[in-house]
Amino acid sequence: MDQVIDVAVNYPLYQTFKYSVPSKLGKAIIGKRVLVPFGKKTVIGVVVKKEKHIKKDEINYVLKPIIDVIDDNPVMNLEVIKICSWASEYYEYPLGQVIFGALPSQLKKGVAIENIKVFENQHKELKTDKLEIDLNDEQNSIFKKIIQDTDSFSTSLIHGVTGSGKTEVYIKLAKEILRKKKQVLIIVPEINLTPQTITRFEMYINENIQSYHSGHTLKEKMTTWLGVKNKKLDIIIGTRSSIFLPFRSLGLIIIDEEHDSSLKQQEKLRYHARDLSIIRAKNLNIPIIIGSATPSFESLYNTRLKKSKKYNLTKRYYKTDLPNITLVDLTKDLPEDGISKLLKGEISKNLKNKKQTLLFIGRRGFSHALTCLECRWISKCKVCESFMTYHKNQKLLKCHHCGNSRSISINPGKCEKCNLVPVGFGTQRIEDKIKGLFPDAKVARIDSDAISNLRKLRDFINRAKNNEVDILIGTQMIVKGHDFPNVSLVGIIDVDSGLFNLDFRGLERTAQLITQVAGRSGRKNEKGHVIIQTRSPEHPLLDVLLSKGYEDFAFESLNDRKKANLPPYTRLCLLRMLSSKKITAFKFLDEIKYSFSAQKSIFFLGPAEAPISKINNMYVHQLVIGSKNRVVLKKITQKIRQYIIQKKPYNIKWSIDVDPIDLY
Ligand code: ADP
Ligand code: ZN
Repeated sequence: MDQVIDVAVNYPLYQTFKYSVPSKLGKAIIGKRVLVPFGKKTVIGVVVKKEKHIKKDEINYVLKPIIDVIDDNPVMNLEVIKICSWASEYYEYPLGQVIFGALPSQLKKGVAIENIKVFENQHKELKTDKLEIDLNDEQNSIFKKIIQDTDSFSTSLIHGVTGSGKTEVYIKLAKEILRKKKQVLIIVPEINLTPQTITRFEMYINENIQSYHSGHTLKEKMTTWLGVKNKKLDIIIGTRSSIFLPFRSLGLIIIDEEHDSSLKQQEKLRYHARDLSIIRAKNLNIPIIIGSATPSFESLYNTRLKKSKKYNLTKRYYKTDLPNITLVDLTKDLPEDGISKLLKGEISKNLKNKKQTLLFIGRRGFSHALTCLECRWISKCKVCESFMTYHKNQKLLKCHHCGNSRSISINPGKCEKCNLVPVGFGTQRIEDKIKGLFPDAKVARIDSDAISNLRKLRDFINRAKNNEVDILIGTQMIVKGHDFPNVSLVGIIDVDSGLFNLDFRGLERTAQLITQVAGRSGRKNEKGHVIIQTRSPEHPLLDVLLSKGYEDFAFESLNDRKKANLPPYTRLCLLRMLSSKKITAFKFLDEIKYSFSAQKSIFFLGPAEAPISKINNMYVHQLVIGSKNRVVLKKITQKIRQYIIQKKPYNIKWSIDVDPIDLY
């Protein structure tokens, strides 16, 4: 009897396909690529399972034989197939597409692995004069506790204040794992953070370290993929997709900045690299360490459930105190173009003392929108119906959601001549104001308009470090993991948009932002000062965060999440649908809700318009499905997915997002 195998193909289909293997082709082992007949086509598939004993009557059709076996050796080992299968199942995404997504582009085609060009000697000459790490007492005690059981699965959360030196703890742990001839994977949220993390590892570590992210060429990625598989590479420092690399003998996973939302992929397979890493570590029976100065509420909650151990680094390595924080009540200290008197005075003092100032503002561009004071016209995007940001220098209105842009007419509204004013503040507006207030200061803006690539970012960071800039003005880009040792004053221009954010994670994000931004000040030599401008200084978040700190704030907020039936006390699944007629998707979502509403232990939110309500001329609606019970939710979403496939009107596009991070 011929061997029977299950094959995954690169199509959006929620199943694998059985084929027989003619004996002349030898054995088609799991993880090898095969050529199979598929409809009228011949396609490439990956063998994911071997069917041992299939009885004739179990299959009521004649199995087609495969055409060829492409590989001599598997391109994917069982362990990688296992994590792909888990992701496929958990995130409701077709297995074939997960598997092909985990293969380097060159292997997605039928080329034999031996014929693919890679860089020889990607690994460098190893120097041996590396520094020894000398941990301080707090770092050392955490290192000692974690290193005790690194031979089996465990999750450890390191909550270390900014500047406490989490990275040095990671490095020392990594060194121990390398000593056992195992590999280490470090996942960071952004490409921007990989070079500086690599530099720090290379100071102490002699083995082969390689980065892995979307900035690499296909050939580089292929080389790294092979290097990991052949164990020519010992340490990978990469972004979220490195979780799918085929490590030969992985011994430790580290997720840095585990709270960062870029760890979650927002399209196609909507996976969270931290959560997937925990599953992979469990499968491999190895430890995983997740670290942050502002851990996600989920991760803190898991420490309470004892699913994960918690370690705290409470002191900064360079013994500077955490900064003083002052709230400015903008209803009393009336701001002039976004800058209060107090902030202006402090900046001016700082300039006299030749110290650096960092101003944080959540939005790039000049203002959130333009409006006419007479007829109340407001700049809205015709494509997606979001507000359009005013970009003064280019005299354009730009939509940051969909990328649409247009020039500004003199008379967009109903008036004879509109009286247009900007609403809200963007980085450019603050930059204009600051340059007006302090004409002699060297001002630099950092946002994705000003800094379009890694080289420019590095250049900017170097200028800031060399004291060639007096005032740095920037968005999130400025906050993420970058060290500005000379900054002693930080201003958060407008915290209110975060405090009154609709999304249930709005407060968590805002607390993380305040804490992270504050952590950028006074890092090396002296105590810093943070000024937060707000119209609601009595807001409970600010009060708890500033008086008791991030962790207390998190645990208090978790109580509110519990009362409101929100994650992590419930699990959510977000269903989005696009249709060219507004009503079509809405009606279909409503039909789904109605059809499943009799099910026990689940609840629905919506259907409603999605926050970005129009994409490519299609209207977007959403329905949230939730439950306290993960297994129940899983069963329902699976059924709903099948229902969609069977019953959906033909012109609807849809996606499922399990554990979504943004709802609104
Ligand atoms: P984290 O790694 O927690 O993000 P930082 O990067 O802010 O912390 O680290 C603070 C600074 O202290 C860095 O410049 C780091 O190199 C330094 N540092 C921390 N621990 C040590 C150590 N054990 N030996 C030498 N330098 C250290
Ligand atoms: Zn738009």
